[in-house]
Amino acid sequence: MLALAGHPLGEHFAALDPSAEAGVRALAHLIVSSYEDPDALDWMSEHCDVVTHEFERVPASSARRIAERTPVHPNPDVLEVAQDRLTEKELFNRLGLATPAFADVSTRAQLDAAVDELGLPAVIKSRREGYDGKGQFVVRARAELDDCWKELGGKDLIAEAMVDFDRELSVLAARSATGETAFYPMVENVHGEGILRLSRAPAPALVRDLQSTAETHAHSVMTELDYVGVLAIELFQVGDQLLGNEMAPRVHNSGHWTIEGAVTSQFANHLRAITRRPLGSTEALGHAAMVNLIGALPDLDEVLRIEGAHLHLYDKQPRAGRKLGHVTLVGDDPEELELRVGRLTALLG
Ligand code: AMP
Repeated sequence: MLALAGHPLGEHFAALDPSAEAGVRALAHLIVSSYEDPDALDWMSEHCDVVTHEFERVPASSARRIAERTPVHPNPDVLEVAQDRLTEKELFNRLGLATPAFADVSTRAQLDAAVDELGLPAVIKSRREGYDGKGQFVVRARAELDDCWKELGGKDLIAEAMVDFDRELSVLAARSATGETAFYPMVENVHGEGILRLSRAPAPALVRDLQSTAETHAHSVMTELDYVGVLAIELFQVGDQLLGNEMAPRVHNSGHWTIEGAVTSQFANHLRAITRRPLGSTEALGHAAMVNLIGALPDLDEVLRIEGAHLHLYDKQPRAGRKLGHVTLVGDDPEELELRVGRLTALLG
């Protein structure tokens, strides 16, 4: 989607991906190799004017190797912070963004102590590696601690109080290499089994203060990290309070609606940001809903029969829990839009 947005801007792309099946292969010169391969990294720094990443588990050391010769945005330090749920939450707290209460856990005794301190239910997560709800265990009773330790023990963990949130939101922001910033209207996100299913944008019934509070937090994080590119921060709304869950130092699934639903997409703005061009308007064009296609594809003709359905397929083999594509619907009337979302989700089974 970055390459699709970049071609009209006159950009050309090379991509490094461990998979020969990477969806970008039709749009870029694809180097198939590991993210640690020094020759592949050196090829990228030699042949590219600027390098970015849209996958936050790229090793920071690899990004640093490229950054010795070629600008890398967001900078490699950002990757290090975002790869660790503990340092990420510490950063949020330090900058005034509250989070669910949390504790650092690396021994069984610390797990017991964390549950004493945080209470139950609690969510135990691996500090690194986890995404889409993987590497997580919800502990509802002390009797489950043994199972939790069996599954996750041995890794560095974070224990979090389970928050009874009203809803999940995300804020997407862009900061350019010249320091210009822009913020998209906040998005409401619905997850199932830890995976994003549906985003609505702008988030319905959002009080104005929450938008400006979220923008202030995103601004602080971007300034602190000398961030360049698009940043997403996932939040829990509890009453009129926002709690920071995690950040994604990249274009984000909850921003896919911007392709059709905003004046400038998150992908175009990410590229403008990293190439020192002016940012584009982040204004929404009415109301948008984005539905992920996960695990298996529905009948695509039925999807395309829904008025105004914008289908995006990622050219990936079906696999349980895998995001294979998404559909965006845009409209002026939120109630009518919800009817179409209902027709679409009914096709997903
Ligand atoms: P994560 O990978 O941390 O984004 O977690 C995946 C999903 O699990 C989130 O989007 C929430 O729906 C849920 N979740 C994670 N942490 C918590 C928490 N501390 N309290 C309640 N729900 C959580």
